[in-house]
Amino acid sequence: MNFYVVTLFPEMFDSYLKESILGRAIKDKKINVVFINPREFVSGKYKKIWPDGNVSLQVDERPYAGGPGMVMMAEPIIKAVESILKKIQKKKNIKILTINFIPSAEKFNTKIAKNISKKYTDVIMICGRYEGIDARVDKILKTKKYSIGDYVLTGGEIPAMVFIDSISRQIEGVLGNFDSREEERASSSEVYTRPEILKYKGKNYKVPKVLLSGDHKKIDDWKMGLTKKKS
Ligand code: SAM
Repeated sequence: MNFYVVTLFPEMFDSYLKESILGRAIKDKKINVVFINPREFVSGKYKKIWPDGNVSLQVDERPYAGGPGMVMMAEPIIKAVESILKKIQKKKNIKILTINFIPSAEKFNTKIAKNISKKYTDVIMICGRYEGIDARVDKILKTKKYSIGDYVLTGGEIPAMVFIDSISRQIEGVLGNFDSREEERASSSEVYTRPEILKYKGKNYKVPKVLLSGDHKKIDDWKMGLTKKKS
């Protein structure tokens, strides 16, 4: 699976993608993550060269009809996505999905992650900032819009990390044991490890007896009970 992240802040992804399961998945070439910065596609009056040689590349503008904050302009984003498409469209048997993140859009979940991992080979994600992205980007690029929850973040970088993480764990070979994906087995929010009795401030905290019973049917029933309580 190839992920292409259109972002003003690619460094934000560095440590998350370097460590643990995703770090290994990248090394093993199970996934590939490429960053494209829309600033590289700024032109015309929005590209200013100052007398001291410094260059400023403006990607945002005031919103029409007023309002607080700036809006990301469509052109640098469209050009950034087109540069990706130009490179990948030559490949054989590819299925491309272009995603824009919107707090009020359809909510992302494991089922969607699973479907994306099965249906697509290349996922382009556009990370908005400020007041969001000029809405014409969605019409021109025919994006699929997703939210990661009912709250507003400062940008689309965390949603992009959520997508990379949850889609990647649906790809065979990314998790050490593919069947260890929670959605494939009875799992619970309560998990325990050694010691069997945890002593804290004069009290004993014990592991639930059923988990020590060795009776897998009973253990699964216990876990399913917790799952039901959660939902
Ligand atoms: N004005 C926008 C609105 O009311 O929908 C909010 C813009 S938000 C401050 C900036 C960017 O963060 C958005 O363009 C989106 O990319 C991202 N974002 C914020 N919250 C999000 C969420 N819950 N799910 C997905 N993306 C989110």
